[in-house]
Amino acid sequence: MSCPFRPQGSITITGRPPPEEDGARQCPARGTLNGGEISCRGGPKAGDEGDADKGARGGDGVSTSGGVCPLGFGTSQGPKFSSLHCPLCKCLFHECVRLAVCGHRYCRFCASRCRDCPTCGADVQGIEDDAEMQGLVDKYIDAHCVNHTIWELESGEPVDKHRGLKVDDPTGLQRCSATFFLQLGLRSYMSGNYVAARQRLLRCKAELHKLMQKGSQESSVDVALWCQLGAVCGVLGDCSRRCGDSEAAAHHYLDSVNHLKQAEGNDEATRELAVSLNKLGDLHFYGNDVQAAREKYAEALDVRRKQQQKSHSDEQVLEIAVSLTKVADADQALGNTEAASKQFSEAQRLVQSVKTAGLDQGRAAMHQHLASFLQERLD
Ligand SMILES: [Zn+2]
Ligand SMILES: [Zn+2]
Repeated sequence: MSCPFRPQGSITITGRPPPEEDGARQCPARGTLNGGEISCRGGPKAGDEGDADKGARGGDGVSTSGGVCPLGFGTSQGPKFSSLHCPLCKCLFHECVRLAVCGHRYCRFCASRCRDCPTCGADVQGIEDDAEMQGLVDKYIDAHCVNHTIWELESGEPVDKHRGLKVDDPTGLQRCSATFFLQLGLRSYMSGNYVAARQRLLRCKAELHKLMQKGSQESSVDVALWCQLGAVCGVLGDCSRRCGDSEAAAHHYLDSVNHLKQAEGNDEATRELAVSLNKLGDLHFYGNDVQAAREKYAEALDVRRKQQQKSHSDEQVLEIAVSLTKVADADQALGNTEAASKQFSEAQRLVQSVKTAGLDQGRAAMHQHLASFLQERLD
């Protein structure tokens, strides 16, 4: 999976108003959630909300004006995960269900992968929708998505403390719904709930489209928006592939390619473009349309070679070798053995020219794998 968050901040969501300083510090869900329903594990208990808000909460557990977030947002000892989170994927519930025997809650997708309840060990004999809990989660998301990032909410600390910190939180991204759903979707993806990830990233995509429409009305669509859209579509393709839906995956990868082409000249977009083209090629290859696969692989190779003319690094040489190997593989499958062996040889020359000392762990492993793969092919 390629991550749409770039630490160097080259991809940012722009065109949003600055966050309201005061609003960002307070939970907009105050008074909208039933405090009795929400127990914050490790979070503040009733009567322990912190000095500033002491006594602000009513006896029924519902915050009144000036109260604290029932999930502990805005307090220093707030919860990392709350009862709104699935204990399996550690994300806010998506299609929350309860196990029939024990009543423990999970996302539908997470529960579907278990035979025993991961919390108490009871046999999973049936599941039932928990619309009430899902309703709370949806309300919580609606209330927070514009002004907060997921990481801020889950750390339970005041927003200002995290400005400038680089912990799982992309500095440079503004607080807006698109960022919120991007984070939520990626969190779900990383924890293996691809159904939730897909739905949340689709929401992110819709929010980005809104930003884009707004930008085109003001005739200033930022290149960063095309990058962001392209990257999100790429992850959507990954989600669909993980869900076994190749057709949807191809659609998303193609979308990704088309968006990233709009950001021509941007290095990050160019790198992502080659990745999405390769993934599209892989889908064709495993779907037995080798000719179509070769076209996509060759396009990715072309993109990478052009980029290399602008700047030169060992990483780029390695990526070109990967692309060349894919084209060669396709040629071999198509019976073009002479062309294939020429390309395998060229790829091997490139791999041997790479200085491995400067590669990160992932690329070093890729280098090793490619070297032995090519050796096998050329033997
Ligand atoms: Zn879950
Ligand atoms: Zn249980």
